[in-house]
Amino acid sequence: MSPLVEVRDLVKHFPITKGIVFQRRVGAVQAVDGVSFDIEPGETLGIVGETGCGKSTTARLIMRLLEPTSGRVSFEGEDITHLKGSRLKAVRREMQMIFQDPYSSLNPRKTIGSIIGEPFAIHGLEKGEGERKRAVQELMETVGLNPEHYNRYPHEFSGGQRQRIGVARALALKPKLLIADEPVSALDVSIQAQVLNLLRDLQREFGLTVVFIAHDLSVVRHMCDRVAVMYLGKIVEIGPGDALYGFPRHPYTGALLSAVPVADPSHHGQARRLLSGDVPSPANPPSACRFHTRCPKAQELCSTREPLLEEMDSGTRAACHFPLTREEVGEIGVRSAG
Ligand code: SF4
Repeated sequence: MSPLVEVRDLVKHFPITKGIVFQRRVGAVQAVDGVSFDIEPGETLGIVGETGCGKSTTARLIMRLLEPTSGRVSFEGEDITHLKGSRLKAVRREMQMIFQDPYSSLNPRKTIGSIIGEPFAIHGLEKGEGERKRAVQELMETVGLNPEHYNRYPHEFSGGQRQRIGVARALALKPKLLIADEPVSALDVSIQAQVLNLLRDLQREFGLTVVFIAHDLSVVRHMCDRVAVMYLGKIVEIGPGDALYGFPRHPYTGALLSAVPVADPSHHGQARRLLSGDVPSPANPPSACRFHTRCPKAQELCSTREPLLEEMDSGTRAACHFPLTREEVGEIGVRSAG
């Protein structure tokens, strides 16, 4: 089966300029820097990393909401990197996004009936009033909202319900690809599991292909078939969830996994120690392996030669000259249990 999405050597640099009248380019934020991966039909791919690692920019590049500096994105075998006009609009219909903040992504002056039905109008699929209402109410039922609340306004719903409204709107056009950009991080912990379960059920029911973006590996643990870990614009490890959680090879993946909240306070101390220091600026990333300024295993080679993604015998691909061993994974207290 050929991939639904192919991403090759994708780069996005945002220019940094100086001066008010004559804006001179003085550098670039290297938000995404040479990222390649496939997304198979029907799979859920998690993209995980700290703020500023490039995960949301990668999603926006796939959706063609941003123009890449270089590289290629293909959708169903078609190169969509430079598509324009009606063909781009047609491809965009097949990809929908759920945003992080359900509060700000819903127009407060519109009823949820018109919010969920909006994509029909945008894509010229206007239905008659009765047909549109039936379609919207069916979507509301699908995501667990009461269809009788069709004429209510966003402020009348809780945070979790508003995210359900966002999901219903994203599903309206029966997309092939759904990109969920930190869909639960603005929600109370008690509500997060409900929304995650809903997304997982919908993915199974409709055979959707999903990209799930999160800053915490624990959130995507039960959602994703495969996981990509990003650090400062690069994928540092990618592979099936079982392999990546069971035996992480990149020290950054190991540190993120050890940082998963656990009952034993001694593990919290370890996690903090493993990820000491701030994330360096993507405008001036460290040489060679970008993680070398924070990596507990760094050696001289790490700052002079860039490690490339390579197959690991554990089943993932990792970009590291000195991947973690089983003993080290045990020592740092990686929480691989589900
Ligand atoms: Fe650490 Fe070196 Fe591996 Fe980079 S290449 S993650 S610095 S051991």
